[in-house]
Amino acid sequence: MVETKETGSVANSAAAATSLFGEIAKYEHEQVVFCYDPATGLKAIIGIHNTVLGPALGGTRMWNYATEAEAVRDVLRLSRGMTYKNAVAGLNHGGGKAVILGDPRQGKSEALLRRFGKFIQSLNGKYITAEDVGMSTRDIEYVAMETRWASGRPEGDGGSGDPSPVTAYGTWMGMKAAAAKAFGSDSLAGRRISVQGAGSVGSHLIGHLIKEGAIVFVTDLHEDRLEVVAQQHPITVVKPDEIYDLDVDIYAPCALGGTLNHDTLPRLKCRVVAGAANNQLENEDLHADACAERGILYAPDFLINAGGVVNVAMEFTGYNREKAYKHAEKIYDTTLRIFEKAEREGINTHQAAMRVAQERIQQMAQLNARL
Ligand code: NAD
Repeated sequence: MVETKETGSVANSAAAATSLFGEIAKYEHEQVVFCYDPATGLKAIIGIHNTVLGPALGGTRMWNYATEAEAVRDVLRLSRGMTYKNAVAGLNHGGGKAVILGDPRQGKSEALLRRFGKFIQSLNGKYITAEDVGMSTRDIEYVAMETRWASGRPEGDGGSGDPSPVTAYGTWMGMKAAAAKAFGSDSLAGRRISVQGAGSVGSHLIGHLIKEGAIVFVTDLHEDRLEVVAQQHPITVVKPDEIYDLDVDIYAPCALGGTLNHDTLPRLKCRVVAGAANNQLENEDLHADACAERGILYAPDFLINAGGVVNVAMEFTGYNREKAYKHAEKIYDTTLRIFEKAEREGINTHQAAMRVAQERIQQMAQLNARL
C-alpha cells in the first residue's frame, strides 16, 4: 500500500487514539467527555473517574495548557484524585473533574460558560461541577444557568459561595496535625512557613497562619496577587523559584500540582509539606517515598484540601456554613489517623490515605452489589 499524506494522518490519529485510551485505562476512568463548540470557542474535557459512592463531584479548572495532551493528563489525574478525596472525606460522591482549555483572564464569555453548562446538563447528574483554579463563583453562576448540576454558586443565590475559605481552613487543620506529629506541638506560632500561590486558598491560609503567629514567606506568579496579600498581612514576598530553597519548617504548596519532584525535593529544607494544591506529587509512586526518605512528613493533598468539596457537596443536602466548617475540622483527626496507619502498615502517608479511600469504595461497592 502506498503511504499517502492522508493514510499517514489516519495512522497518526489512530496512534493518538490508542494512547488516549491507554491513558484512560491506566487511570481506570468510567467515562471521559470531550466538549467542543466552535461558535463560542469552548474546548473542555470532563473526566468521570468513579461513581461507586455516588455522582462524580469535582470542580472545573480553566487553564492555558501548553498542549491538549497536557490538558487530558490534568483532567485524568484531577478527576481520579477527586474519587479518593471524596471517599476519604466521607462524602457520598464519586470523583470527577473538568478542564476548560484557555486563558482564564481573557478567554471567558457568558456564552462559553453557558455552553459548558449545557454539556454538563447532558450528563444528567452523573457529574456535578464547582469552581477550581481559574473559575470564580460568578463563572459558576453562568454555568448554573444551563444546568442544575453546578455547585459553589454565590451565597445570595442559595448556593454555598466560594469554597476556598473552607478549603483553607481544612488545610490549616491538616497542617496543624502534621506539625503535632513532626514537632510534638500543633502550635504554628513562630514556625517558618512558605506558601506557594497567593490565590483564593493560599491567601485565606496565610490569614490563619499569621493569626497564629507564624513567620510566612509567600510567592506567586502574579505581582497583583502578592500586593493584595502583602497589604493585608506582614509577610515576606519571594520570587517563584526561591520558594524551594528557603529555610522553613513547613512548605505549603497552594498553586498548581507536581511541585514535589526530583528537582525540588533535594532543595527543600522543611520537615513538613502540607498545602492545598491538588496532585502535589509529580509521581505518586516515587515522590511520597522520596519525602519520607528525606525526613519530610507529607500530609496527603487530597486529604487536607477536602474542605472545599465538603462545602459544595452540602449545597445538595441543605447548606449550613457552620456544619461545613465542623466537617472540615475533622481533617485534623483524620490526618493523625492516616499518619498512624502509615507507621503501623509500613507504607508512606500517601499510600495510607489511598488505602483508607480504596477500602471505603470497595466496601460500598460490595454493599451496593448485595442490595
Ligand atoms: P487560584 O487560581 O485562586 O490560585 C492559584 C495561585 O497560584 C494563582 O494566584 C497563581 O498565580 C499561582 N501560581 C500558579 N503557578 C504558580 C507557581 N509556579 N509559583 C507561584 N505561584 C503560582 O487557585 P485556588 O483556588 O487558590 O487553588 C489553589 C490550589 O488548591 C489548586 O491546586 C487547586 O486545585 C487546589 N484546591 C483548591 C480548592 C478551592 O476550594 N479553591 C479546593 C481544593 C483544592
